[in-house]
Amino acid sequence: MTKQDIPTASNFVAAIISADKKANKNDGRVLTRFPPEPNGYLHIGHAKSICLNFGLARDFGGLCNLRFDDTNPTKEEQEYIDSIMEDVKWLGFDWEDRLYFASDYFEKFYEFAVFLIRKGKAYVDSLSADEIREYRGTLTQPGKESPYRNRSIEENLDLFERMKNGEFPDGTHVLRAKINMASGNLNLRDPVIYRILHASHHRTGDRWCIYPMYDFAHGQSDSIEGITHSICTLEFEDHRPLYDWFIDELDLACHPQQIEFARLNLTHTIMSKRKLVRLVADGHVKSWDDPRMPTISGLRRRGYTPESIRDFCDRIGVAKKESTVDMALLEHCLREDLNMRAPRVMAVLKPLKVVLENYPAGSMEYLDAVNNPEDAAAGTRKVPFSRVLYIEQDDFMEDPPKKFFRLAPGREVRLRYGYFITCVAVVRDEESGAVIELRCTYDPETRGGNAPDGRKVKATLHWVSAEHSVEAEVRLYTHLFLKENPAMVEEGEDFTANINPDSLEILENCRVEPGLADVEPETILQFERLGYFCADRHDCTRRRLVFNRTVTLRDTWARIQKKT
Ligand code: ATP
Ligand code: MG
Repeated sequence: MTKQDIPTASNFVAAIISADKKANKNDGRVLTRFPPEPNGYLHIGHAKSICLNFGLARDFGGLCNLRFDDTNPTKEEQEYIDSIMEDVKWLGFDWEDRLYFASDYFEKFYEFAVFLIRKGKAYVDSLSADEIREYRGTLTQPGKESPYRNRSIEENLDLFERMKNGEFPDGTHVLRAKINMASGNLNLRDPVIYRILHASHHRTGDRWCIYPMYDFAHGQSDSIEGITHSICTLEFEDHRPLYDWFIDELDLACHPQQIEFARLNLTHTIMSKRKLVRLVADGHVKSWDDPRMPTISGLRRRGYTPESIRDFCDRIGVAKKESTVDMALLEHCLREDLNMRAPRVMAVLKPLKVVLENYPAGSMEYLDAVNNPEDAAAGTRKVPFSRVLYIEQDDFMEDPPKKFFRLAPGREVRLRYGYFITCVAVVRDEESGAVIELRCTYDPETRGGNAPDGRKVKATLHWVSAEHSVEAEVRLYTHLFLKENPAMVEEGEDFTANINPDSLEILENCRVEPGLADVEPETILQFERLGYFCADRHDCTRRRLVFNRTVTLRDTWARIQKKT
């Protein structure tokens, strides 16, 4: 890439990289990384980080590594590693052969620690965890030095080696950096860099019983890989002096630049993995990829497309200030994408039987239906029409209020791609009195949807032929949390108090067009007038159709924008 080709910066991180490239810093190289800890599934917040890191690499002619920050064996699992790789790929990004694990560097980290001890910059402390916390001081009070702080280098080397050899139980000793117990930055008050943990690691097994802390592992991993720009979220801003301290004290050749940006927060959503784990473990949702989850796999199962998520991440931008994005924007991006590509079909979620009294019994015909009005190339299909149909229960009212224009006794409406029909009688259940069937007539002159005499109707309804349609289960989802900010709770409650008990409604006896009988899992469709629906990735089979409602057609975001 020549200097003229360097793209204009679309955000402040890009501006930094652009300037570095122009100044030929790092010999013009750009290498970023996405560094998830494999202690849960990725969520939409991670998508922001993925799009940013891989996107910058792409825009500036660089590369992006995928690195698992797997330094905490008690919380990490292979299942999470697999899901993270699958999700990053599905989002459309490729780390090629650059898949790394912090655990691959455990030997190096150990050498780094020994190097610091020899330099007099690290010591073994034998205070308890509580004492260490107490000695650390507060924002207003300086910390106190540990009585073990001035152990000799030899004693430190000996103790550290014996820590590694498994001679001590968990919690008896830690290795700490020797920086400054009076620093205004708490992260510099002799942070712990190694702890004893007799736990099996998912990759290194029982080889190690001491594990590096995040701050010690992260920057050094960046440096080992030759990362140029280490992009992370704002909570690490106060850790940056420590990040730099380690790399400087270790005399490492590569000194990546840490840059912090504001994490994504979404209304009606929690993003902390600790809380997401609880939703799954406590059964508030069925799985990590439950379509109500803000996880990438949940969004995928719900029917979100990678394109819509990438578009969303582009639109929210990258800033240095915390904010909360309205979920309606995410849905808006999805609708824009699906509107262009989702085939239209007819499905009746709550069927009401309609008998056309003047349509010949035993006969049927095929009507032409448009597959996608936004895409002429999608063509048309044949939909069977016959004497007995289903329409939506909500499309009929016996005693309609003023603004209800759909079907009612004596009223004429249009059936989509079909005929005008008029309701002539209502059949009730003898016991409950509920309407169970409508008797209607159709006007054969109106085939295709227009009357030769020019008469108008005020509503067009979707429908399916009773005999030809196929049964399906449809799962309707709404927000998992009632409040915009699920963390807002009364004293003594936690975020689970805001869980919406009605976030899932299952409709078992829906009827869909016969063309959907062999729909492939993950197919996304628009059910006309109802919304976008996706054939469930796991549960939809040829024997049992299952659709998830991805999003309704109503676009609240467009309305919010109009108002402002
Ligand atoms: P936790 O939820 O347990 O605090 P985490 O979300 O920080 O963990 P990591 O696996 O460490 O989980 O995250 C990997 C990367 O994704 C990090 O660089 C982190 O800064 C970034 N990231 C995490 N959450 C968000 C978010 N909401 N918005 C943007 N980036 C995020
Ligand atoms: Mg993290």
